[in-house]
Amino acid sequence: MIELASHLGGEWVKGASGKTATLVNPATEEPIATCSTEGIDFGAALSYARERGGAALRAMSFAARGETIRGLSRALHAHRDELIGLAIANGGNTRSDAKFDIDGASGTLAAYADIAAEIGDTRVLVDGEGAQLGRSARLFGQHVFVPRHGVAVHVNAFNFPAWGLAEKAAVALLAGMPVVTKPATSTALVAHRIVQIFVEEKLLPAGALSFICGSTGDLLDRVGGQDVLAFTGSSNTGVVLRGGKSVLAHSVRVNVEADSLNAAVLGPDVEDDSDVMNLFIADVARDATQKTGQKCTAIRRVYVPAAKVPVVVEKLKERFLAIKVGDPAREETTMGPLATAQQLKDVMDGVAKLATCAKVVLGGERVGTKGFFLAPTLLVGSDPKPGDAVHLHEVFGPVTTVMPYDGSADHAARLVAAGGGGLVSSVYSDDKEWVSGCVLGIAPFHGRVAIGSSKVAAQAIPPGTVLPSLVHGGPGRAGGGEELGGRRGLAFYMQRVALQGDRALVEAVAGKR
Ligand code: NAP
Repeated sequence: MIELASHLGGEWVKGASGKTATLVNPATEEPIATCSTEGIDFGAALSYARERGGAALRAMSFAARGETIRGLSRALHAHRDELIGLAIANGGNTRSDAKFDIDGASGTLAAYADIAAEIGDTRVLVDGEGAQLGRSARLFGQHVFVPRHGVAVHVNAFNFPAWGLAEKAAVALLAGMPVVTKPATSTALVAHRIVQIFVEEKLLPAGALSFICGSTGDLLDRVGGQDVLAFTGSSNTGVVLRGGKSVLAHSVRVNVEADSLNAAVLGPDVEDDSDVMNLFIADVARDATQKTGQKCTAIRRVYVPAAKVPVVVEKLKERFLAIKVGDPAREETTMGPLATAQQLKDVMDGVAKLATCAKVVLGGERVGTKGFFLAPTLLVGSDPKPGDAVHLHEVFGPVTTVMPYDGSADHAARLVAAGGGGLVSSVYSDDKEWVSGCVLGIAPFHGRVAIGSSKVAAQAIPPGTVLPSLVHGGPGRAGGGEELGGRRGLAFYMQRVALQGDRALVEAVAGKR
């Protein structure tokens, strides 16, 4: 069996065999690799990244870092088929799910390489307009961003081993911070191969990207005031990491991307067989079942004017029944297994919780006895209220719940907000007044809101697709974080400093003259 290593201190290192984790194929339950970080010196690894990687990246301009990032994007694309194969074997991804992850990774890297080219040949990022401070124009203030001198520790969830690594690394590297990245252990094979490719092809300066395969050991007890921690995963783990002793003692900047009960709302004006209805049904069906529903942006709640519930349920049933559940290595399969045995158990327990406030009308059961398969699952509620399980509990699988509302923007917004803060929700309507009321009602509870209407139905991007140019993150349950958003994402990895003094000197420091 393959024994996966970590890449730390500029070399591949394996931990002692005491606490070995095993990665399996979730379709067959066969073990495929092991890894361990037992006994690894994380203190030395952090120092190496801070000193070697940080110095090398800070010596480069944004444009030069961007060219390096473009090299990473091209390398991923060149190894696309191999990475898809690993995602099928270790992630339970269908070919299409694997492409979503891997193309999302190379696409996000390419987008940040383009942003770097726009910023250009500078090492200081000017933040907005300067301001005259005194009576004369001589005394001047200007905000700038400079890279922090620590490491960016990235802890990722199991569902996007390629995109999760790339979307965080692209932004940190462009900002000039070295990265220590850790994928979830259960699906680490893809991330491991990606780092192997970057190392083999010598695409990055020494120390710019370190990789942990397995537990973080005592690493998080060693973070300091110039380091940052970006975490994606469950709310519970987010709470633990945010409350870490060193994180608190050194005011380590933390970004958390966590659970989300994303909603889709159908407007009262939408006709049964209109383009907008078709878009709504296609978005819900895809974003509830793509990657077997293991997507932080998956649509978990569907609100429909009461009179439209039967037609929406029929249309969704039809879509769900057309899904072919099976081993993703087989071409005809359109939905693979859940990623782990624990995931299968958690999702089945979750469906039982949802069943306290809604009725299972399709699926809800395990498929077969080998592999972690679950049928696409549809529930229907009749009287949704804040505090119901569907507004409290994220079931991280191919599960969604259709519920009625009274057709008013206000009622829809109150129900969506009952999810406690989310990454993205979507509204479907051509009625400007209703759309404004609903969107402004739910906006404070989200990082992103997608509006589906007839004019964009043919070119709409599904709400579950995270875009490098728009922010990803959300308040409350979603972790309170914010990533990506084009240049906005850089701020997390940089120190904003206000410079004040003689305008000529301030602008020279800022690189403006
Ligand atoms: P998880 O169990 O919280 O694990 C996430 C990551 O944290 C893994 O790499 C895990 O490592 C690590 N971890 C767990 N405990 C840790 C500790 N004490 N110290 C250091 N690292 C620790 O979450 P998951 O099951 O992988 O992911 C599913 C969850 O992620 C869902 O709730 C989903 O909503 C959320 N998610 C959110 C987003 C977003 O962008 N908001 C995206 C994807 C997923 P090991 O694997 O080694 O345990």
